[in-house]
Amino acid sequence: MRLKTYMSQKGALPRGFAREARAIVGDEHFSDREGDLISYSLDYWLYGVFRSQYGDLPALPSAVVSPASIAEVQDVVRCAGKYAVPITPFGGGSGVLGGAVPLNGSIVLNLQRMNSFLDLDEVSLVAESEAGIMGGNLELELNHRGYSAGNIPQSLYCSTLGGWIAARAAGQFSTKYGKIEDMVLGMEVVLPDGDLLNIKPVPRRSVGPSLKDIFVGGEGTLGIVTRATLSVHPLPELTLKQSFVLPSIEVAVDVVRQILRAEARPAVVRIFDEAESERYFPKIGRKVTVIFISEGDTGYTRLDSRVIKRICRENGGESGGTEPANIWLRKRFDIGLGPFLMQHGGVVDTIEVSALFRDAAKLYRDMVSAMKAVEGVLEVSGHYSHFYREGACLYITFAGFPEDPMKYYRDTWDAAMQATINNNGSISHHHGVGFWRIRYMEQELGAGGVKVLRSIKNALDPRGLLNRGKLIDDGK
Ligand SMILES: Cc1cc2nc3c(=O)[nH]c(=O)nc-3n(C[C@H](O)[C@H](O)[C@H](O)COP(=O)(O)OP(=O)(O)OC[C@H]3O[C@@H](n4cnc5c(N)ncnc54)[C@H](O)[C@@H]3O)c2cc1C
Repeated sequence: MRLKTYMSQKGALPRGFAREARAIVGDEHFSDREGDLISYSLDYWLYGVFRSQYGDLPALPSAVVSPASIAEVQDVVRCAGKYAVPITPFGGGSGVLGGAVPLNGSIVLNLQRMNSFLDLDEVSLVAESEAGIMGGNLELELNHRGYSAGNIPQSLYCSTLGGWIAARAAGQFSTKYGKIEDMVLGMEVVLPDGDLLNIKPVPRRSVGPSLKDIFVGGEGTLGIVTRATLSVHPLPELTLKQSFVLPSIEVAVDVVRQILRAEARPAVVRIFDEAESERYFPKIGRKVTVIFISEGDTGYTRLDSRVIKRICRENGGESGGTEPANIWLRKRFDIGLGPFLMQHGGVVDTIEVSALFRDAAKLYRDMVSAMKAVEGVLEVSGHYSHFYREGACLYITFAGFPEDPMKYYRDTWDAAMQATINNNGSISHHHGVGFWRIRYMEQELGAGGVKVLRSIKNALDPRGLLNRGKLIDDGK
């Protein structure tokens, strides 16, 4: 198959850079072999995955460089600066907005060799690891010792700790344990000039704006995360599962609002619309279904589960038993029919947004109807997950068999983003921006927000060498 790139061309590396980078990481950890370049050309941006079936790639890196230590990362970054070579940090490559796609002739800085679990402090409930550790391995190390990080994204087994931090991830159990920004207490970051920033782990501080939060969600544009310390939790004593069928999306959203207002904190809450409920739970069929998983200390968990049951019943909920939660637990790492549909010419993707409770149900109605109105659509369905006392994340899946795949893809995203802005929502809850969402950033942040982000980028990385073309249009 002949390969073509459609977003940017592979760069020609200065010979001096290749020689010096090889000396830093060792010959076997510097590669410009075609197979390696193809392997690191794409993340899980689904339109890119769709096109790659036909030999079309968004970009190819000019080399893949895999350091094994913080000192090596610093040396590679300094060497890239010397030769003006752009760098794209690469964790697991599971990002879905193209954040790890090596645009502009970048090299890929692959962090997967920096994968050690370093330390668990059982008194303070914190654990330190290198940033390239895969989520599944981090969780395994903790589980063996009786703990969990509580961050369980669907991509647990193909994403890294550094990628979670850079993309501001949220796991499936976030309603109880929080999102990555709540879990990271400290970290080490290699800055674009190669200097090291060490943010020590403490429960809180009041020393100016939070530096940590510049890099949580920085998407590799502001620094390279090399280590991090996360808060951890003892494994639960008891887990209780339940599900309820509720009369409508509006009622279901309001029921969860009441549950959180009553200070119950289930680890998992998911409201499935009729279409997703039918797909997941055929015995229940086309009805709005909500699953709850409460866990932790025995007494607390029983109480949590009782509060949920009472509020669901008071609002006309019919118990669906434990089976729906068990089905979801079994299927929660599956990626569904997407790859199959793509092989047959289907365009598929997911969009996650957030809104306050007062807007959350209307946002669902408006997003689904706007996305269903796009020509070529096959299906649009949704669920809510990741709840807060104030609101929720809405997660929509769409698929179409259009004549013009890019037009359908873009029109559907535009429809979804516009419905979100119109309903006062945020255009992303946890997948981030990559390159694909950049064009909606001005509407999200306003001119003031774009100016602040651009100024931070230009101050830290004046030549725009770190992950250029991602997160914000920095004008370079
Ligand atoms: C099937 C599937 C399910 C998913 N489920 C979830 C989910 O439940 N929750 C969720 O939040 N996300 C989910 N995602 C999205 C994705 O897994 C997350 O965005 C994840 O945080 C990306 O981690 P990664 O290591 O794969 O990063 P990559 O994709 O390699 O990179 C993501 C971004 O971070 C940068 N980066 C990577 N490592 C570093 C580092 N060490 N320092 C600085 N920058 C870095 C990259 O340059 C890029 O901009 C899912 C993706 C898939 C494919």
